[in-house]
Amino acid sequence: VEVHITPVSSNNGRIAGAVVLMHDVSEWRQLERMRSEFVANVSHELRTPITAVKGFSETLLDGALNDPVITRQFLQIIYDESERLKRLVTDLLELSKIESGHTVFHFEPFDLTALVKRTVEKYRHQAESLGLTLETELPPAHLQLEGDSDRIAQVLINLLGNAIAYTPSGGRVDVSVMEQEDDVVLKVRDTGVGIPAEDIPRLFERFYRVDKARARRSGGTGLGLAIVKHILESHHGQVEVTSVVGEGSEFTITLPKTKEI
Ligand code: ADP
Repeated sequence: VEVHITPVSSNNGRIAGAVVLMHDVSEWRQLERMRSEFVANVSHELRTPITAVKGFSETLLDGALNDPVITRQFLQIIYDESERLKRLVTDLLELSKIESGHTVFHFEPFDLTALVKRTVEKYRHQAESLGLTLETELPPAHLQLEGDSDRIAQVLINLLGNAIAYTPSGGRVDVSVMEQEDDVVLKVRDTGVGIPAEDIPRLFERFYRVDKARARRSGGTGLGLAIVKHILESHHGQVEVTSVVGEGSEFTITLPKTKEI
């Protein structure tokens, strides 16, 4: 609490009383702390790929260029790290736009079944080349939903991308859609590494990662689930996670069929 005391004088110049102002600054302090933590996180996340790009190009310039095998290997690393930088900046911009309320969502009716089919097919090649089975279970009829279809596709892409990244070869990923009264339920289930129970409450925070080394290898930005949460909030939807370490995870999205105003 911040306290300001201003004496109040009477006509003869003597102090007759005081005005005491008390401000509860705890909320403000917490916001400030979160803001500076965020800036520290962003700087750290940006510095890692930049350091790699700089280091590997320096080594090439210092003579490694003469070896074509090493040159190819280092250029691949530089390329991958630049891709990560691009994803990071794109995700950061997307997140800050949504959080500041500057994102314009285009709500319109769309067919969720078709969207899921389309999106899953885009990932089939990647999943299969990593030795994963990718299955879908969709309702026979088309399922109309009201929302921003690009954003809902983004939600699915983030969950599917994670399921693929955190499931070792030989595993499987299932995507299903079903109706439940006034809601539609979209599930992404994998037989991957799983998430410890104590990490689940923090999973949707920006930059929160269970296993930093693994997440970094997966090429993730640590922002995917934070974006998922925000998109769902703006659609009056929600996301739940159940997981068993070593057995797999299941992300369940619930969305109302029509937008509640
Ligand atoms: P990242 O870009 O690191 O994947 P996300 O925000 O998408 O960031 O996910 C946050 C963290 O949650 C990941 O780093 C990972 O530790 C964990 N995670 C997300 N999805 C899964 C999953 N399907 N299986 C296991 N862990 C997961």
